[in-house]
Amino acid sequence: MTAHGALDLIGKTPLVEVTSLDTGPCKLFLKLESANPSGSIKDRPARAMIEAAEADGRLKPGGTIIEATAGNTGVGLALVGASKGYRTLLVVPDKMSREKVLHAKALGAEVVITRSDVGKGHPDYYQDLAQAITNRTPGAVYINQFENPANPAAHEASTGPEILEGMNGDVDAVVVGVGSGGTLTGIGRYLRKASPKTVMVLADPAGSILAPLVETGEMTEAGSWAVEGIGEDFVPPNCDLSLVKKAYSIGDKESFSAARELLRREGILAGSSSGTLLAAALRYCREQTEPKRVVTLVCDTGAKYLSKVFNDAFIAQEGWLDRKTTGTARDVVI
Ligand code: PMP
Repeated sequence: MTAHGALDLIGKTPLVEVTSLDTGPCKLFLKLESANPSGSIKDRPARAMIEAAEADGRLKPGGTIIEATAGNTGVGLALVGASKGYRTLLVVPDKMSREKVLHAKALGAEVVITRSDVGKGHPDYYQDLAQAITNRTPGAVYINQFENPANPAAHEASTGPEILEGMNGDVDAVVVGVGSGGTLTGIGRYLRKASPKTVMVLADPAGSILAPLVETGEMTEAGSWAVEGIGEDFVPPNCDLSLVKKAYSIGDKESFSAARELLRREGILAGSSSGTLLAAALRYCREQTEPKRVVTLVCDTGAKYLSKVFNDAFIAQEGWLDRKTTGTARDVVI
C-alpha cells in the first residue's frame, strides 16, 4: 500500500517480539514508535494537537505553532508544521540533545534556547517563555502538550487500539513512561474499556517524583537524571496516575545499559527512555510466576542519541564504563 505523504506514515508502527533477552516466564513485545516519520512517539500527538487547533479555528493559514519542549514533541510539530505550511517556534531548555535541536532546525523550525536551571514562574522557564512569546505573536497558538486534551486522545484513538489488535486481543501488561502523560493516559483509558485485564506499569527515571508517588502516595523532592523525555518534577494535568498498577524507578546506568543491550542483542536502535521502559519491563517479566504477554514501547530512535547513549566517551564521562583491558569495542560493558 502506498502512503499519501509523510503524515500518512504516522502510526501503524510494527510490533516485534523480543527473542534474545531473558524475559522470565513472559513474552515481551516492543512497539516501535521509532518507526514514525520523525522518529518518535510524539508524531501522533503532534499531528492531533495541530489538527485540533485547526478544527477549533485557533490555527489559521499562515499561523505560528509555539511549544515548550524538551525534544521529540518539537521535532514532531516541526514535521507536521512544515508539511502543512505553518511557522513553528520551539522554546527549548539548554539540556536538550543536539541531534534533536538540529533535526527541528533542519525541518525549518525556529528554536529559542533558554535556561534549564529555573523553575515555573521565572520568565526564562521554558513554558513561561513560550506562553509570553505566544501572547505577543499575532496568529500564534501555544500547543501546551501538558494540558492539551488532543495529546492523550491521539493515543486513545490510535496507539491503544493498535497494541490490542497487534496482540490479537490478548495483552496482560503495558509498560510506559511519562513525560506529558499523553501515552499513559491515552493507552490506559482505551485499555481500561477494551481490555480490563491489562495492567499499566510505569517506568520512571530515578529522581522523578512519579514512581515514588504511585508506590507510596508521597510527594518527594525531584532529583535529576540523564534519560531524556520522561520523568517529572510535577504531575502534568494530562497524566492520570490512577491508571497505574505498578511503578519502577530505574537509574540512568541501568537505562543506558538496557538501550545498548537492546541494540547488541536484538538489533533495535532505541533512545534512552526506551532503555528505562525496557529495564522496567524486564524486571516486571522476571518477577512473574505465570506466563504473561507484556508490551512496551520504543519511544524514539537511538539515532537521536548516538553522541550519548551509544558513545563510549560519554559513558566513560558519566563514570559508567567498565572497559575490559583486552578485546574489542564489543567488550565495552556498562
Ligand atoms: N520518551 C521520549 C523520548 C519522549 O520524548 C517522550 C515525550 N516527552 C516520552 C517518552 C513520553 O511521552 P508522553 O509525553 O506521552 O508522556
